[in-house]
Order: sequence, then structure tokens, then C-alpha cells
Amino acid sequence: MRNLLVCVAALSAPPALAQQLSPQEQRIRDAVVAGYDEAVNLLARSVNVASGTFNLAGVRAVGALYQKEFEALGFSTRWIDLPPALGRAGHLIAEWRGRRATAATQRLLLIGHLDTVFEAAGRPFSRQDTVGYGPGAADMKGGNAAVLLALRALKDAGALDDLVLTAVFTGDEEAAGRPLSVARKDLIEAARRSDVALAFEGGDARTATVSRRSASGWVLTVTGRQAHSSGIFRDGVGYGAVFEAARILNEFRERLAKQPYLTFNPGTIVGGTEVRYDSGAVRGDAAGKTNIVARRVVAQGDLRTLTDGQLDSARATMRLIVSSSLPGTSATISFDQGYPSMPPTDGNRAILAVFDRVSQDLGYPAIEALPPDRRGAGDISFVADILPSLDGLGVDGFGAHAPEEGIYLPSLKMAAERAAILMTRLARSRRPATSDR
Ligand SMILES: [Zn+2]
Repeated sequence: MRNLLVCVAALSAPPALAQQLSPQEQRIRDAVVAGYDEAVNLLARSVNVASGTFNLAGVRAVGALYQKEFEALGFSTRWIDLPPALGRAGHLIAEWRGRRATAATQRLLLIGHLDTVFEAAGRPFSRQDTVGYGPGAADMKGGNAAVLLALRALKDAGALDDLVLTAVFTGDEEAAGRPLSVARKDLIEAARRSDVALAFEGGDARTATVSRRSASGWVLTVTGRQAHSSGIFRDGVGYGAVFEAARILNEFRERLAKQPYLTFNPGTIVGGTEVRYDSGAVRGDAAGKTNIVARRVVAQGDLRTLTDGQLDSARATMRLIVSSSLPGTSATISFDQGYPSMPPTDGNRAILAVFDRVSQDLGYPAIEALPPDRRGAGDISFVADILPSLDGLGVDGFGAHAPEEGIYLPSLKMAAERAAILMTRLARSRRPATSDR
């Protein structure tokens, strides 16, 4: 009854200046502060286990470390192995159903990842004042530590029993195994059993992520007629593969470069009479002569869009440009599946609004939506079409994807305080009985 009164009071209160926390929320905040040193210790231990995506043993070892933490909180955990053909370590899943949870409790999905872009051992975790250094310190071992600090605080404050939680820490976020339908099957299934998704990729004090762009790739292959260069532009010889590739890429730029939220980047190009190219390794070499019209060009790039519609239309435009060949040439373009987009929905903005309120009630800044072109694709994109989703709840850092990566340690405390109270408030917002998402 007391909880209900507090809840109603909070809903009807005028916009707060700061520190509008219920007694339970105060206890949660105190518990985060009390658990902070231990969380930094967990962060240090996890950073010291090198876990580049292709270091399968390392990813599993980091997973085992978190698995113990979840089990100590009473979660049931399991490790998901992926088929060996995918060449990835697998995922950690941890589940919790609190004793006081009801059918109306909103079920929360918490998303983290175990792997880092950086593959080598890197330097061990080190700390200078309020900054911690080490590969993955921010992206996203810091985010994982924030999740566990938040959960520990919820338990210590007696609030965990109100929650229904599924945590999925994937082992291949930085380079997902293919096919994606297999690599992301367990994450998607967890989303279908949940009502709101919260992801803990890096964030900052003032923003969170309600939309992320899709990210996919393309390979352009152009063929020309090999001939003596003195005949170029004439009938029977044509323009050669290099001019045709230049025309195509330039028309991509002219037709598409100004579209909001759309970007595409040719990352490599090789051309000549003999071309070897490996699109998996994104590597190739070419040979030719200046007096021979080039026979072949391969270019490879990425493509990022805000919605599936924008992706379809960009691909259609690119195909059209590719098919309008100069004389004596032909070209094809292939697109890979890639990461889906996370469009900004009303549901996502509603979660952002709750998060903004939480942040201000804690005395932290107001939260705005991060512009979608300011971050790459991520795991949350695979579930954002299933349930309302918010990302960027993790820690603030710098130098991601490098051995000098660092985390501003106080952001770990801020992230955990905000996440823990966000979870309790979201869990209380009643789930519709007819929900059939
Ligand atoms: Zn990440």
C-alpha cells in the first residue's frame, strides 16, 4: 500500500528540481554507492581477461566471471554454445523472477556483451584517480559492471523481488557470427519473453539512444574490355572498368550523399587487368599497365540507414546506377544482410522520458535522444522491432576499440544508480493483459 501511495504521489507531483526519490529509491542509491568499490574491482578483473571476439576461450572466461556474479544474486544462468561453423564463443543468459512479481510486472531485458574489438592481450587494468584504463573498459565491460552493480544494489535494498529480468550478454557483438538468424536467435527469443529492452553500451550524462542506424555492406564488381589504351572511348573498346567504377561511385555520391541519416563509404577499391580480391578479409591487389584498358575493378563499402525503407530505397538507387553501364563495361553490386536499423518509435521515446525523469530525480542532468548518426549499429537493433528499447545506458569513456581505452569511473556509479531506479519504475508500469507482442 505504501508503495502504491508513493507511486501515485510521484506521478502527480509537479516537475521536480532534483532528489525526488522514494525511500526505497534512496536505499537503492545508497546501496550503489556502497557497492561501488567492489564494482570497480569486478571491472578490473573482467578487463584483465582479454576477450577479443575471436578469442573464444577469453570470451567464455569473461562470461564465466559474470555468470558467478549473477548466480551470487540468485539468478539462474546458462551458457549458450553456437554451432562451431559460426566461429564464435556463445552467449551468457541470466534470468530472475522476483517473489513479489505479478503477471502485470513489466519484464525487462538487459543487454550487454562480453567481447571487445581489441584482440591482443592489451595492458592490464590500471587506475589513475577517477579514470580506469584497459581494453573494453568502457565498451563494454564498464556497462556490464554497471548492470551487476545495479542488480546488487536492488537486491541489497530489497527491491529485486519486484522485478522480472533476463540478461543476455552476447559473445560476438563486435563481429556477429553469420548467419545472424543463428547468432542472434537466443537474444531475439529473450526479447519475445520481455516487455522492455535496456542496453548498456557506452553513454554519457546527457544522452541515451532511441534509434540506431542499420549497418550493412556491399561489393561492387565492374568488368571492362581489356584492350590497348590508345583505343579507349572508341566503339569496340569502350571506357574500361576503372572509368566505369568511377562513374558509379560518383553517381552514388551525387544521388544519395545529401539524404538525412544515410551514409555509405567505399572502404576499398582495386582495379587493373589482374585483380585478386577477398571481400571477407577486405583485402586485395591489382596489376596492369598504363597502356592497357582496365578489365576489372572491385570496390567494397558499407551502408547505414535509419529505417528499412531507407535501406531498400538506397539499394534500389544503387542498383539502377550500377546497371546504367558505359559502353564496353558491365557491373554488378551485391548487398549483405547486415545489422537492422532501430527507428525512433514512440515506445522508445516513452522509455527515454522515464529515464530522463529518473536522471533528474537523482540530481543528474536531463536526458536527450542521441542523434542516430552519432553511433553505429548494435545488438539492441535486433530486438527493437519486438519491444520498446533504450540503449546508451552504460558508462562514459574514451578511446573505444583501442588498448588505451578508458572509463570515467564515476560514470559507473551514475549508470548503476540510474539503471537500478529505471528498472524499478519500468517494472511497475502495468503490462496490458492482452499483450501479445
Ligand atoms: Zn559495444
